[in-house]
Amino acid sequence: MIYLDNNATTRIAPEVLDAMLPFFKEDFYNPSSMYSVAKSAKLAIEQARQSICTQLGVTHASEILFTSCATESINAAIFGATKANPHRKHIITTAVEHPAVLEICKELSRNGYDVSFIGVNQQGNLNVDEFVRALRPGTLLVAVMHTNNETGVVFPIEQLSGITKETDSNILFLCDATQSMTKLSIRLDAEFQNVDMLAFSGHKFHAPKGIGALFLRRETQWKKFLHGGHQEFGWRGGTENVAGIVGMAKAFELAAATHEDDTKRVTRLRDKLEMGILARVPGIKINGSGNQRIPNTLSLAVHYAEADQILFELGNKDICASSGSACSSGSGPSHVLTAMDVPLIAIGGAVRFSLSRYTTEEEIDAVLDEFPKVVNQLRQISPLQDYVDAKSTEWTVARAPLYHAGYTEARGGAVFR
Ligand code: PLP
Repeated sequence: MIYLDNNATTRIAPEVLDAMLPFFKEDFYNPSSMYSVAKSAKLAIEQARQSICTQLGVTHASEILFTSCATESINAAIFGATKANPHRKHIITTAVEHPAVLEICKELSRNGYDVSFIGVNQQGNLNVDEFVRALRPGTLLVAVMHTNNETGVVFPIEQLSGITKETDSNILFLCDATQSMTKLSIRLDAEFQNVDMLAFSGHKFHAPKGIGALFLRRETQWKKFLHGGHQEFGWRGGTENVAGIVGMAKAFELAAATHEDDTKRVTRLRDKLEMGILARVPGIKINGSGNQRIPNTLSLAVHYAEADQILFELGNKDICASSGSACSSGSGPSHVLTAMDVPLIAIGGAVRFSLSRYTTEEEIDAVLDEFPKVVNQLRQISPLQDYVDAKSTEWTVARAPLYHAGYTEARGGAVFR
């Protein structure tokens, strides 16, 4: 099995599993229990918290709250902010956020909040001028992702959070770092010092599912959202996922130890895949190319072939990829690619490959072998086959005048290879 869907989830690193196992076996105790054997569970949580704080440049251990996933962290961040600041009714976010943010914003806009959804250009870059214009008295919160899960495009969080705080230091800044965590540098005492809240999830970096965290800066005007026991400094009730917490800290340590080498290797393999596909298959464009992207992500707009069929055929060859966000599978055209003004004919063929440190050269070679065959085969049986010149590596646009006109108009005349 060739697994290239690591933005959906990752396999657990063996070292992470080893670190977790004692907390399912001999150290299974509830960390809140008073008897002495339970102390090891409590201690393990606090050691894990301290280790994560060190990795992220967090000053106070109580600023890291463990949750069940990034979605919970984002819900806690946004609803906690609205609860603590009821007089502020304006939120700024982007049109390309994950549904974990977008759906909350839509819910709030149905309940009296005004939400500005900042757009992106055709390369997936955020419109910073539009962002600056949107900030205003009464803005409660800015919620911007660090890295887009579909395209891998990186947003300038340092710049955006700096502008936000210069405009009004009371506006809260939430960053969804779910896809960038451990892949890019995140220091909450340096370039992310103006970020008040930061959400992430362990299963994106070789820890298990069911564990996430919210960084909540001490001074943040925020009220707790999940009521219950006294766990997590009284901010998030519920018995802690001890094994998950220990596993997530271990995954952080592993990622830090091999970060440079992994980044180089994964970037090289992703670029090899990207260039290899472009050289072998006509009529493909890279979504977000020319931008800073996380090293592991490759988003393709395959013209005149359906992503579902491509993924099905790849699946038959034991290759796992995705059509974009796993969370929005089956929910229509990607809102991210729509916001980037990718033509409909190409959104339907959006395929995302996402690599990990476990991806091998042989796996990339195998995909380079199979992917062109799959696309060519599907185009042969496509009603649009007349528009593809199988003999040429160039896309034949002369026989598809309508699509070509639409494409070049939308792209300002750009040629899509
Ligand atoms: N934010 C982004 C950018 C994501 O990619 C995801 C998941 O893919 C989430 C939030 C939600 O993460 P989780 O499923 O762990 O709640």
